[in-house]
Amino acid sequence: MQITDISSNNVPCDKYRPDRVFSHFQEFIDNLPYVLMIVIGAAINLIGFKMSIWGMIAAGAFIFYGIIGAFWIILFVCPFCQYYNTRSCPCGYGKLAARFRKKSSKEKFTEKFKKHIPVIIPLWIIPVLEGIILLSIDFNHLLLILIIVFIINSYIFLPLLARIYGCAHCPQNNDCPWMLKKRSQINLVT
Ligand code: SF4
Repeated sequence: MQITDISSNNVPCDKYRPDRVFSHFQEFIDNLPYVLMIVIGAAINLIGFKMSIWGMIAAGAFIFYGIIGAFWIILFVCPFCQYYNTRSCPCGYGKLAARFRKKSSKEKFTEKFKKHIPVIIPLWIIPVLEGIILLSIDFNHLLLILIIVFIINSYIFLPLLARIYGCAHCPQNNDCPWMLKKRSQINLVT
């Protein structure tokens, strides 16, 4: 598999990336929208259920799902990535994966990506559906604001940051079904 030469990548930001190694700060920035999505999703549960014990249980369950979701990718996708156990992984998962699993065949990366990404997709859907239902039962301005912030972060900021900063610089992006889909959408528009 050919390795992308990042230095020649025509990406729309000036992310400093010497020798294809990401700094911990860059890894932090790459993870920030996902962490925000989990925190805001948990807040929607807390406020939606009026800070009750059920709200705390639902918020805790959502945070647990967010952590499990990240580890699901680390355990079932990253071992198939050519940047497993390297600092060339933009979000740091590749290094973490090496602590738990052995490297597997990189030829299966696309197959594993398509198979396992659906496991985390409900993280984008549950807080919005739940929030709208709770809002329709008992309107609450704070809950409405949280839902709007969740949508802006998860549906606009997260994919945008991935496209121009995180995934745009990922050495694996030529084999990533998500990036290939985004590129074909951009090509259709232009
Ligand atoms: S680039 Fe993506 S698939 Fe590869 S190790 Fe990092 S997070 Fe995992």
